[in-house]
Amino acid sequence: MLPSSGSQKTDGEFMTKADFIDDEALHAALAAAKPEPARVREILKRSLEVSEALPPEDAAVLLSVTDQALLEEVFEAARAVKRKVYDNRVVTFAPLYASNLCVNNCLYCGFRAANKGTVRRKLSMEEIKEEAKALAGKIGHKRLIFVVGEHPESGAEYIAEAMRNIYSVKEKTRRGYGQIRRVNVNAAPMTIDELKILKAAGIGTYQVFQETYDRHLYAKLHPGKSPKSDFHWRLYVMHRAFEAGIDDVAIGALFGLNPDWKFEVLGLVAHSRELEARFGIGPHTISFPRLESANGTSLPEESVNNVSDADFKKLVAVLRLSVPYAGIIVTAREKPETIRSVIDMCTQRDAGSNIGIGAYSDRYSKQETERQQFMLGDMRNLDEVIGELADLGHITSFCTSGYRCGRTGDHIMKLLKSGHEGRFCKLNAVLTFREWLDDFASDATRAKGEALIRKEIAEIRAREKDFPAETVKLLDSYYERIEKGERDLCF
Ligand code: SAM
Ligand code: SF4
Repeated sequence: MLPSSGSQKTDGEFMTKADFIDDEALHAALAAAKPEPARVREILKRSLEVSEALPPEDAAVLLSVTDQALLEEVFEAARAVKRKVYDNRVVTFAPLYASNLCVNNCLYCGFRAANKGTVRRKLSMEEIKEEAKALAGKIGHKRLIFVVGEHPESGAEYIAEAMRNIYSVKEKTRRGYGQIRRVNVNAAPMTIDELKILKAAGIGTYQVFQETYDRHLYAKLHPGKSPKSDFHWRLYVMHRAFEAGIDDVAIGALFGLNPDWKFEVLGLVAHSRELEARFGIGPHTISFPRLESANGTSLPEESVNNVSDADFKKLVAVLRLSVPYAGIIVTAREKPETIRSVIDMCTQRDAGSNIGIGAYSDRYSKQETERQQFMLGDMRNLDEVIGELADLGHITSFCTSGYRCGRTGDHIMKLLKSGHEGRFCKLNAVLTFREWLDDFASDATRAKGEALIRKEIAEIRAREKDFPAETVKLLDSYYERIEKGERDLCF
């Protein structure tokens, strides 16, 4: 495969003769895959060791399983990997859509330039701060993903300034104060210099979805000559991020575009292995949004049957198993019942989300913010979602300390693979959950949450080898201080 015009940009160094998506090999792996139970079980066992990403051939074998009993074994193994690496924690976050200005024409997206039915907005810094105040002070989020369309007016400088403004917010709450402690960014692929600007402003995770790893389909969905029509520029963006010093990166594919959805799963696995091989660090998270109806485009309706709910559950399990150390994100694009069916294999979800521009601070009319990028499937508020997670035995973690204490990149990869990251996370989940319950929970959710905290603390006390007496003592003192209104105490 020859490199595209992207080679003239600063990613030239990474653009060797062939890129890392070997279409023929991936298709051959899918064609050759046979769900022999012994082979499937051997792969599941290897995944449970939580080492590097599985070869695409193994992922293809897992994808080929159709026998219901064997499929249950695949799901159970996926749940076991989740528990081994991330225990019963689910991290929540919210998207902050700041601008829908866009120069591209992605056929599936309501923000595309040719869609004249979209009211175009770019939030000012003041407006962004209002959004952050609502998220941190009223709803209770500590982590968000900042989202913008691709446009010269919403480039690296705008995003960096927005991040600085968001981090500066400190809002009084019931018992303490609320802050956004981690800003992740989902924006167009950038140059190394632009990515350095985001790094300097304190980016959490840099997230870009490839949309589809099928280069021919990619060309059809991104017609004409726009920045996004360059498949390679996008494919190598995480290489540039590492060069820029951002070692916390997130990948994803937009499922539903490609009827051959299994190819996309192998694309994500191949991408993870490429990053591991080049930089010693795989993706921090993997996303698998499914296409939703969007204002001004009929493509999502036409493609809606491309990934059934049953296929969706299988792809989540296979991704969970294939890249065992990675965080796995299910989004509020999905309906509550779909999320419930996969949440025990996932590590993160957004909740209480609103993807209208300026929607959290009720900036513009409801009618206007409703004409948004696409429609959400789970519109429940954060309190309801957290209550349901507690009913299912999951503790909601608002921990953001890994990134702020330098536990990122290969450091966190080693901790995750060895199961050691879990120790910090378990303690921090308790502390941050306590903060949230005191500051934002309804009475009903607070009662459920406190029962969960008691169970967590009992487990911590019982695991003397993992949590020595001094650690438990420190936890007790942090816990007490948080109850009195202090905030942001963590391990
Ligand atoms: N403009 C940047 C880009 O395209 O990379 C970042 C923002 S874009 C709004 C974020 C993501 O939204 C895209 O990568 C795409 O996967 C997703 N998206 C676009 N249209 C969608 C739809 N109709 N349903 C679900 N997700 C969609
Ligand atoms: Fe623009 Fe991103 Fe939507 Fe494409 S997906 S039209 S680049 S906002």
